[in-house]
Amino acid sequence: MADFNKQRIVESVPQRGFFGHPKGLFTLFFTEFWERFSYYGMKAILVYYMYYELSQGGLGMEESTALAIMSIYGSLVYMSGIIGGWLADRVFGASKAVFYGGILIMLGHITLAIPGSISLFFVSMVLIVLGTGLLKPNVSSIVGQLYSEDDGRRDAGFSIFYMGINLGAFIAPLIVGTIGMDYNFHLGFSIAAVGMFLGLIMFASTKKKNLGLAGTLVASPLSSAERKKVSLLFGTSAVLLAVIVAVTIPLGLLTFKSFIVIVGILGILIPTLYFIVMFRSSRTTSVERSRLVAYIPLFIAAIMFWAIQEQGSTILASYADKRTELHFAGLHISPAWFQSLNPLFVITLAPLFAWLWVKLGKRQPTIPKKFALGLLFAGLSFLVILLPAYFGGENSLVNPLWLVLSYFIVVVGELCLSPVGLSATTKLAPSAFSAQTMSLWFLSNAAAQAINAQIVRFYSPETEMVYFGVIGGAAILLSILLYSFSSKIQGYMKGIQ
Ligand code: GLU
Ligand code: ASP
Repeated sequence: MADFNKQRIVESVPQRGFFGHPKGLFTLFFTEFWERFSYYGMKAILVYYMYYELSQGGLGMEESTALAIMSIYGSLVYMSGIIGGWLADRVFGASKAVFYGGILIMLGHITLAIPGSISLFFVSMVLIVLGTGLLKPNVSSIVGQLYSEDDGRRDAGFSIFYMGINLGAFIAPLIVGTIGMDYNFHLGFSIAAVGMFLGLIMFASTKKKNLGLAGTLVASPLSSAERKKVSLLFGTSAVLLAVIVAVTIPLGLLTFKSFIVIVGILGILIPTLYFIVMFRSSRTTSVERSRLVAYIPLFIAAIMFWAIQEQGSTILASYADKRTELHFAGLHISPAWFQSLNPLFVITLAPLFAWLWVKLGKRQPTIPKKFALGLLFAGLSFLVILLPAYFGGENSLVNPLWLVLSYFIVVVGELCLSPVGLSATTKLAPSAFSAQTMSLWFLSNAAAQAINAQIVRFYSPETEMVYFGVIGGAAILLSILLYSFSSKIQGYMKGIQ
């Protein structure tokens, strides 16, 4: 977006009114709070809904299928951010994208709230994937538009926003999880829908007053010739896709297994193509090319990190349900509640980390070293959860504190890597592609979950020690490798700190 437009947007936003931050942050904070509430609330019960027996109100799927679907789902949710980011950038602007996205998400949860068949379940998946792709990258990019480039409050603004994400993610499993597990899954999903509805109301009713022009400008609108071409392309692709699906499913060519493989390939292929396009573009300068080279190992580390972090809601959710002692200290624990631990630790530890980095000042680890640390802790979190089986075998129920410890350790890693990752992406991606940085960063998560979909089937209580050991060990090895190359990578970053 031209500097002139950026300036015009910042001037149109009331610059105070939310803890010393622009008023618009209030709107975006609560919109994303409710969106994440609905997403993580749904996610906290979805896996159980899939593999619980029909008599327990579930869909009665095989557990390994349910785990793979969770990963595919998570992958597509972040992959579709590319389309959402592109539509905002070239067609209707970020603000409309957020609104339309919210509506699709709400409809998705409403569809899940209707008791019924597997078909409804897949319809809801499509709605939520498309909706989140529209909403998630764009709501974050509007946060960036509230501040001028040199505004000292910018990073703090993103940290407050990150708190909103995790507050939503924290309370959702407690509310949606409890109602979904103790009463009825569909009632749980309807609470998620209500959450998204509240987010939409919040967004629609305060955006005019608080956001000014932020999110309203289309950064590089399509020319009318391009518009025609793109509509044609979208139209034919949609028809083609529908035909392929309609033909291959009845013929048994497109099975669930082949779909997992396709998503796996896309998960790797899309970021690879992205890098190639950015690298070869004539709009990328040679300094930017060097930075891009530095970004690749960081991106790979991020994939490995998210692969472990995201298994907190798949493999560890199953572990919570089947391997964990749920009557503990006189309390009956719902397995869904474990999903609140990650965001709880994020909320409590984030200020500590912010303080630590300021305190260390120039002595704080470089970006590659922070990534290596993130990966190290992710690996350790898996080695920790291997221990109960090592000490007690895989047949006895495990003290829930083991899980708490594992979630805690992964969050220590998350706070080294996740907040740094987004800002590193902004700094290291070529400026010609800046509109897509948000989606680029989310692709690391999409790739991770695409890989997870391939590997979760190797998990079972009998194989859990090997499973956690191999993945945790691989993360630690990669972390050591990254650490030893960190000065070299830093060199390629050409002055970015
Ligand atoms: N857990 C965070 C969220 O839901 C971060 C996801 C990511 O950066 O991949 O927003
Ligand atoms: N910590 C994750 C994110 O930052 C939330 C979660 O996994 O529940 O939002």
